[in-house]
Amino acid sequence: MRGVVQGVGFRPFVHALAWRESLAGHVRNAGGSVVVEVEGGRAQLDAFTAALSAEAPPLAQLESLQQATIAVVGETGFSIGASTQRAGDVFVPADAATCEACLGELADRTDRRHAHPFISCTDCGPRYTMVRGVPYDRARTTMAGFAMCSTCRAEYEDPRDRRFHAESIACHDCGPRLSMPIGDAADVLRDGGVLAVKGLGGYHLACLASDAVAVARLREKKRRVDKPFAIMTSAPERLVRLHPEEDALLRGPARPVVLAARRHDAPLAAAVAPLSAWIGVMLPYTPVHHLLLAATGEALVMTSANLSDEPIVIDDADARAHLAGIADAFLAHDRAIHLR
Ligand SMILES: [Zn+2]
Ligand SMILES: [Zn+2]
Repeated sequence: MRGVVQGVGFRPFVHALAWRESLAGHVRNAGGSVVVEVEGGRAQLDAFTAALSAEAPPLAQLESLQQATIAVVGETGFSIGASTQRAGDVFVPADAATCEACLGELADRTDRRHAHPFISCTDCGPRYTMVRGVPYDRARTTMAGFAMCSTCRAEYEDPRDRRFHAESIACHDCGPRLSMPIGDAADVLRDGGVLAVKGLGGYHLACLASDAVAVARLREKKRRVDKPFAIMTSAPERLVRLHPEEDALLRGPARPVVLAARRHDAPLAAAVAPLSAWIGVMLPYTPVHHLLLAATGEALVMTSANLSDEPIVIDDADARAHLAGIADAFLAHDRAIHLR
């Protein structure tokens, strides 16, 4: 199978499907493809093949499926085999916004990943900015330096777990760490400060969207006179009027900035979009965003940390040097950003 089939939970999906249809064999990543060998009854094989495209995971995009009949080897059970290198086109999936299941755990005080800033699963989390090479597995991601703890390892190896072979799996014990507590970062914002936030693909600068002084300071520091700032909020309906199609766009996994008509009573500083009746809004898309918005309780200006015509700031030392005169504090972490 070719297409966006790596880093989207495709192998765990195939594994579950094979067990459901009582088929033996294995699945493995090979270059940019996924290769499956299965043996079993004709009806089960047909059901399996049909389900491969019909029931594929939400982030997968199956472009093509080639089939061939090979000799039965008498395998018992179904396994995820070692990845093999193979030349070919490579499709690296896009980063995906934190899913509902992970958000539930993030908010659940009894969950072991409660408030974990790097919670993710096979259906969500970083991909494009994390994958260093193919086939997609942990060793070739920016998570390679974070050895799984025994609990995460057990989830990763359990076919019934929703983090089965989730390469970005992490927890408070074994995952990346933030450079400052979320509560302290929220305090910086509430005190009118400008916060540099390390995101998936680079740094953002953030401040309270309702704070006229903070927004004006950010404009001055970014040397951006009147180009509108985008706003990150978990309650866009308080800021803009959204048509159903705009709302659907906003909630898609790519989490775009959507331009929508500003509400006259929106709690936004005029300097957010001085000359415009339109506001660019986006929803939080990483656990750090969700935690920061929840701790702050307000909408945030969220703008790229680059000054115009400069390359994207992704290196931590560069970011600190580059943004020293602009940001009052840094909410960073120790997972590298990989951009190709
Ligand atoms: Zn998830
Ligand atoms: Zn862990």
